[in-house]
Amino acid sequence: MIRTVLGDIAPETLGRTLMHEHIICDITPPSLRGVPGFDAPITMQSRFDIDYGRKRHTAKFQLLDQELAIAEVASFAEDGGQAIVELTIGGLDPDPVALAEISRATGVAIIMGCGHYTEEFQAPANHDRTVEDFAAEMIAAVRTGAWGTDIRAGIIGEIGCSAPWTALERRVMTAAVLAQQETGASITIHPGVDPDQPAEIIAFIRALGGDVSRTIIDHVDRTIFDTDRLLRLADTGCVLELDLFGYEHAYWSFAPVDMPNDGQRIQMLRALADAGHGDRMLISQDICRLTRLRAFGGHGYGHILRNVAPLMLERGFSAAEVDQVLVHSPRRLLTFA
Ligand SMILES: [Zn+2]
Repeated sequence: MIRTVLGDIAPETLGRTLMHEHIICDITPPSLRGVPGFDAPITMQSRFDIDYGRKRHTAKFQLLDQELAIAEVASFAEDGGQAIVELTIGGLDPDPVALAEISRATGVAIIMGCGHYTEEFQAPANHDRTVEDFAAEMIAAVRTGAWGTDIRAGIIGEIGCSAPWTALERRVMTAAVLAQQETGASITIHPGVDPDQPAEIIAFIRALGGDVSRTIIDHVDRTIFDTDRLLRLADTGCVLELDLFGYEHAYWSFAPVDMPNDGQRIQMLRALADAGHGDRMLISQDICRLTRLRAFGGHGYGHILRNVAPLMLERGFSAAEVDQVLVHSPRRLLTFA
């Protein structure tokens, strides 16, 4: 079965699914939390610069308005969307009760993650915690409930890694592998901005006996910029996720990289599919700031359905290939092994 925030569902009932989004989330950089002065109103005049990222703005990182979230997720349903994987985890202020209410209000299935984000976001007390402690927390999140509620997680992650990868983050990753072995849930991973780190993470998981075929490397489209590396990573048997669709400008405020646009993302997908990896690639938008919502002039959760899927068909993908990415691979990865 597939575990949603409202209970378990049969895999064959899962329709078009976004595998990496945030609906209720606070991803304000820790160094700016509580620092006043970076919360100017988002207006038609200011939204481009706030979204672009050179202008410091903390309020855009707070997706905390439940009524707004309901409207945005309802809009995704109108675009034909059926399910969203919501990966707000430790360090990003997860709110399972809100997710359950949003799912109930919109009819969109929500599959929730568990675990911890990158070290800079983690609670200081995590430095004293053991692998076994982290693993027990993730197993309980899947089996009995997460973050003090009885609402259960359906996937492990996005497990945060920095570049260079820290000792604390390796302990959390080791715990995620133990939780995968215990529960049968897939692991989804936020790698650091280092083109070779995804392969390092996969080797680490393989050495621990984790199931690489049920391990997803997120944010490939801000991490790997050459086809050779892309195909070498796919050859390890892991799942590659291009989850920044809708991010259509080159500037990336978190690292000195030049971002691809949606057309180039589709070319990366074509290269993967042509090399026989069509059933090991996922797409999503990783919405985690207000300016990407429709209410603030952004593309909203439905962008992939409204715009990217038709573009894939125009660029030579078959309907079956698009269905594989949006329906069949999500079903396989979200069904507990
Ligand atoms: Zn991430």
